[in-house]
Amino acid sequence: MMVRREDGAGGKFMHEFLKRHVMSRFGECRLGEISLADMDDSSDFDGFVFTTDSYVVDPPIFRGGSIGSLAVCGTANDLAVMGAQPYAFSLSLIIQEGFEVEKLERILDDVKFWLSKLDAKLITGDMKVVEANVGIIVNTSGVGVKNEHLAKNLEVVREFRDYPFGWIRDCGLKEGDAIIVSGNIAEHGVAIMLERGFDFELDVKSDVYPVWLFLKDALDVGGITAMKDPTRGGLANALNEMAEKSGVGIIIEEERIPIREDVKGFCELLGLDPLSMANEGKVVMGVVEDMAEDVLKALHKAGQKEAEIIGYATSEFEEVVMETSIGTRKVVPPPMADPIPRVC
Ligand code: MG
Repeated sequence: MMVRREDGAGGKFMHEFLKRHVMSRFGECRLGEISLADMDDSSDFDGFVFTTDSYVVDPPIFRGGSIGSLAVCGTANDLAVMGAQPYAFSLSLIIQEGFEVEKLERILDDVKFWLSKLDAKLITGDMKVVEANVGIIVNTSGVGVKNEHLAKNLEVVREFRDYPFGWIRDCGLKEGDAIIVSGNIAEHGVAIMLERGFDFELDVKSDVYPVWLFLKDALDVGGITAMKDPTRGGLANALNEMAEKSGVGIIIEEERIPIREDVKGFCELLGLDPLSMANEGKVVMGVVEDMAEDVLKALHKAGQKEAEIIGYATSEFEEVVMETSIGTRKVVPPPMADPIPRVC
């Protein structure tokens, strides 16, 4: 048996593959409240959260950023959606022999830029040069720390209900929680598509950005019960994971989902579902209903002008259901695999 592309493409196939081969061996491993099998964005130990991610994006430099920006922002975002402040990073480079040093320097400059924005430090790393046709592959691990913003958020959530977790978990939704998306979706995926030689007049760049920089302000308002960054598999994947792990359904309104008209049109033209396209600077969150408007205002004030309440968690059903702009209801299934290879 051979590993297939879709086994690592971030969707349903990958989940099944990981369950069969990895979780069967290590799934119950845990040091704190989160086990490997929980497949949350990070796991915890001794009051820290820890995560790791490999980046294989092709091309490695693209409109809006590079594999270096992805390596810092992507890893930082998996920490930030736990409510953790990104703190310490590793950087491991696997580079094809012959790769241009000028490109490598541009990538490392992006790493430095975003680390400094986050006030986080790169403290360990590794580098290998290989003959294989890989371009550049980057692996980043990150450690996140508890902070006053997370504490404030959990305090507010607990004014409304029991919340048995020390971090913000993707399984924390309850019926009635508002679902907020922090900004326009699908832009990273579309930007990478455009880099692959589509002759299409569309001025869009990757949204790659460290969400911690605006999440802090939303946490200070408080009431956030669940979070994910909708990367591979997009909004559809993030919503389905949150619903399934929380044991609730989610109802969303198509017209409230923030997306640029031209980006939507591009997806339609290529037969791609914008709900499954990757984002690299966005958050989807559940918020206690009474706090949702205030959290939304905080996101707007922190520069996330397109943030929107797109729906609610419900106990009426267990799927993600969308009310379409023509008034029908349809199930939004979890994507089987990301439609674009090497997107992040
Ligand atoms: Mg994530």
